[in-house]
Amino acid sequence: MDFELTEENRIFRDAIRDFAEKEIAPLVDEAEETGIFPKQLFRKMGEQGFLCPRYPIELGGGGGDKVTECIMVEEINRVCPGIAAALMAQSGLATQPLYHFGSDELKEKFLIPAIRGEKIGAFGLTEPDVGSDAASIRTRAVRDEDHYVINGTKMFITNGPICDYVVVAAYTDPTKRGEGINLFVVERGTPGFSVSRKLDKLGNRSAETGELVFEDCRVPARNMIGGKEGGGFGQLADTLVSGRITYGARCTGTAQAAYDLTVRYAKERVQFGKPIVKFQNTRFKLAEIATQVDVMRTYTYRVAHLYDQGKNVRKEAAMVKLFTAEILQKILGLCMQIHGGYGYMMEYPIQRFWRDGRLYTVTEGTSEIQRMIIAKELGL
Ligand SMILES: Cc1cc2nc3c(=O)[nH]c(=O)nc-3n(C[C@H](O)[C@H](O)[C@H](O)COP(=O)(O)OP(=O)(O)OC[C@H]3O[C@@H](n4cnc5c(N)ncnc54)[C@H](O)[C@@H]3O)c2cc1C
Repeated sequence: MDFELTEENRIFRDAIRDFAEKEIAPLVDEAEETGIFPKQLFRKMGEQGFLCPRYPIELGGGGGDKVTECIMVEEINRVCPGIAAALMAQSGLATQPLYHFGSDELKEKFLIPAIRGEKIGAFGLTEPDVGSDAASIRTRAVRDEDHYVINGTKMFITNGPICDYVVVAAYTDPTKRGEGINLFVVERGTPGFSVSRKLDKLGNRSAETGELVFEDCRVPARNMIGGKEGGGFGQLADTLVSGRITYGARCTGTAQAAYDLTVRYAKERVQFGKPIVKFQNTRFKLAEIATQVDVMRTYTYRVAHLYDQGKNVRKEAAMVKLFTAEILQKILGLCMQIHGGYGYMMEYPIQRFWRDGRLYTVTEGTSEIQRMIIAKELGL
């Protein structure tokens, strides 16, 4: 049993950490302030194989695996969870269905440019009236000769306002609950596809999130991922299992950042004649947080490693998402408390991580949904 990163993993981690500190950190304030994602990062990271590090080098990826993707996500989240959100949507949700189930033509046209950062992808499953109960989506795709006509609305879509294409879930056969769903690639500029609004958010402000509308939107039948009607629910499950592991890395990176900021603050802040880090109460809290972050990281990478070995980790992926997102809430609360009143001030970055991390028990399957999956997998 070996729980250490390999030499190759460590080299990658150092390189992406360096990139995040030099190339991303200087962009954070403006992106958070304006709510505009610094799009140049897609190309810059794509050129270095950092954007989608787990896909093969021949496709423009980093030639790594799930562990490598987790390292990227953890390191970017340490610097800015909002920016990480946009990049994660690209390295996972918007590309995995194409990578695993897309035709050569779809790979050539969308996947490879996305991996290289030349095209920005989004993933549209959630609708205004349908979130957790994904099998109840209302978006329809009706065949019309060599096209499908899509009608529906997608809500909360990361990268929606800036995407070049979106992978959309729609029913081709609404009589078959879940099984009648398909995924379609819809290109920006296709008549009938529009971004109806960009959404204003509490946190993750540098990721652009939107509502997308499809009104009699005609897409070529060859844009259907998988090439035949039905089977899209399996493609969704495949993508979401992988995403839940990535979420462990997202939570770990955010927790590590909060811990680092809090240690620094606790060493600087003096009360009753000594730095607050010297009070047992502060030391105990920080000791607990450091322990929790280690467990979050170890568990995430263990499951990522099992995933890389081709194991069925449906249950473990849900456990990673549930455990890391929930424990993060406690960590962020403690870090805010140690910061006292300054933690509540916008000039201190801890509030940003607190706002950003609040999202994680909700997106890509709420904690309640993860509990439902785990209980089902346990045969309860
Ligand atoms: C910033 C942001 C970015 C997002 N990005 C994307 C994206 O790129 N693509 C995309 O498709 N979606 C995206 N989402 C949507 C996200 O995945 C959903 O918000 C999430 O799945 C929850 O759905 P909902 O918000 O509709 O909540 P609901 O499903 O309405 O749930 C509301 C509450 O009820 C609980 N609940 C629901 N059903 C049950 C049950 N059976 N038992 C117990 N409790 C239950 C939930 O756990 C939750 O607490 C994003 C959301 C946000 C906020």
